[in-house]
Amino acid sequence: MTFDRKIEDAGLERGVSRLTPERIENTLKQVIEGEAGAKLKLYAETCMRCGMCSEACHYYMSHEGDPSYSPAGKVHQTLGKILRKNYKVTADEIYEMAQIAYTECNLCRRCVHFCPLGIDTGYIMSMVRRMCHKLGVTPPVHSGHRSFPFRYLQPDVAQR
Ligand code: SF4
Ligand code: SF4
Repeated sequence: MTFDRKIEDAGLERGVSRLTPERIENTLKQVIEGEAGAKLKLYAETCMRCGMCSEACHYYMSHEGDPSYSPAGKVHQTLGKILRKNYKVTADEIYEMAQIAYTECNLCRRCVHFCPLGIDTGYIMSMVRRMCHKLGVTPPVHSGHRSFPFRYLQPDVAQR
């Protein structure tokens, strides 16, 4: 699944230009292993790519069934990629992941009700936002979902 839909965003460009491989690896590991516990890895490992959640997602439906926009496709291009590459993703890939988590999923969580395994893609995308926030590539005010604002706007904002 190639990423061929990059949008231009000056702020995001500026944010990723400051990243180093070490910072990316350490931050992703901290969130996935330190904050999420086993949950994120479990979701990524148990998805069987059955596609039952696809038509629950309005992004998928409004892009004529493009699998890149399906819930499982979005997980494959973000969390799945991070785990497949053992946290060694590039700054360009962080850019792509931020685009997916912020502009191709609104965290509505409709898809979780269609998944026989209860995989919560909205939660996964919120954690991808969390990683982008901790990497400092997105504005603090955009770092979380309205339902969880305090979780994502906590002290590490002050570390910028
Ligand atoms: S319905 Fe669940 S198991 Fe099937 S593709 Fe979607 S997230 Fe994966
Ligand atoms: S949570 Fe995201 S992936 Fe799931 S249905 Fe809503 S917009 Fe689509």
